Amino acid sequence: MTDLSPTLSLACDLISRDSTTPEDAGCQALMGERLAAVGFRLESMRFGDVNNLWARRGTEGPVLCFAGHTDVVPTGPVERWAQPPFEPVIRDGMLWGRGAADMKGSLAAMVVAVERFVAAHPDHKGSIAFLITSDEEGPATEGTVKVVETLVERGEKVDWCIVGEPSSTEAVGDIVKNGRRGSLNARLVIKGKQGHVAYPHLARNPIHLAAPALATLAQETWDAGNEFFPPTSFQISNINAGTGATNVVPGELEALINFRFSTESTVEGLQLRVTDILDQHGLDYDLEWTVSGLPFLTEPGALLNGVSAAIRQVTGRDTQPSTSGGTSDGRFIATMGTQVVELGPLNATIHQLNEHVSAADLDTLTDIYQATLEQLLC
Ligand code: ZN
Repeated sequence: MTDLSPTLSLACDLISRDSTTPEDAGCQALMGERLAAVGFRLESMRFGDVNNLWARRGTEGPVLCFAGHTDVVPTGPVERWAQPPFEPVIRDGMLWGRGAADMKGSLAAMVVAVERFVAAHPDHKGSIAFLITSDEEGPATEGTVKVVETLVERGEKVDWCIVGEPSSTEAVGDIVKNGRRGSLNARLVIKGKQGHVAYPHLARNPIHLAAPALATLAQETWDAGNEFFPPTSFQISNINAGTGATNVVPGELEALINFRFSTESTVEGLQLRVTDILDQHGLDYDLEWTVSGLPFLTEPGALLNGVSAAIRQVTGRDTQPSTSGGTSDGRFIATMGTQVVELGPLNATIHQLNEHVSAADLDTLTDIYQATLEQLLC
């Protein structure tokens, strides 16, 4: 494949390395080489079996950081791909290969955008940084979260961060993610007393005891959401009781519950309200809580304005901020008080067989990243 744009050529180089989580397969070295050549100071941070790269150009603030991951999800059955997943091709205007959309295309666009920006503005304002991990698609315990801890320990501040996750739905730049909901889980066990159905006065049926309490929980309004978040939602995802026999009152009932919560609610507040409701129903119960992510929100400000202006300038489109979807590494970066947005290509085929992305979109994305740099650091 000759005559590829610099972004597509770098994207192909990255895709041809099998960097299934937690492997990086030399992707960070390749990016680092390009960044060092335009004045970045590189720092490899290895935690456990995960490679991470922190790279920075400049010593002053404000700091605009590009963040992302070089790891990819497993290919699934290779024989069901139209071409080998780590042998990228461009066909019908699409770049095909594992990681094309999530998110080696974005990584290539970031590097090329920065190269162009630095060539045009060698004495730009503030600093540009890259925070790259190879542990986003896996447990995400040795990656961004650890790099963030290191930066916090040494007092290194990041003002703005663009995460290259594929945020777009119909056209590149139509959606940017400016926050994510939190996720809170619990295992609830309601205790009764096992017995014979014919002698209910000798038993206590946990199903009968639980039903009105679960109905109250399901009907509760937890908050009204806000301008950026839908109302907090409560779902019972599993419910289980009974021995399988028709003549036995079971001893306990187990339910798994999940909150997807907005910034109007807190973990402690939701926990308290659940126990209040269970107590009002006079139940004997155990509750085990796990938090799988805290919510974050980037309100309109310099970053969101800069990104929106860049998207309008390059595509003519008015972007739509959204907080929908699952979690991403943005949640770790936001804990530093950093404004965070996710902006990347279309997410239609991510994690699927035959992952692909529009080749032209990656060049457009490069222009958007470059225009954002110009908005914020000129
Ligand atoms: Zn991703």
